[in-house]
Amino acid sequence: MSTLPPCPACNSEYTYEDGSLLVCPECAHEWSADAAAEAPGDDAKVIKDSVGNVLQDGDTITVIKDLKVKGSSLVVKVGTKVKGIRLVDGDHDIDCKIDGIGAMKLKSEFVRKV
Ligand SMILES: [Zn+2]
Repeated sequence: MSTLPPCPACNSEYTYEDGSLLVCPECAHEWSADAAAEAPGDDAKVIKDSVGNVLQDGDTITVIKDLKVKGSSLVVKVGTKVKGIRLVDGDHDIDCKIDGIGAMKLKSEFVRKV
């Protein structure tokens, strides 16, 4: 008998296997068992976008409002698409690279998953 890891999105214990995927019956999150095994003990903090979609590393998002870039006159325009985000701890919980601007951090409340 194997013990399945809890859902990384909502921490539900009632996960089950579906082929190579693990599925959570409570929030319908699906993820790869292999990927879950790579990050043992990673206490998955759930980070959601402006409309409540759970965000994950590697997701593509769009910015939903103009955001000033700290310490510069640059503005990340509403609708800007950002690929390959990385979730981090902190007030600004998304680490990413934006074309024409470079590396910066965003708040999940100002983005929407694509
Ligand atoms: Zn879940």
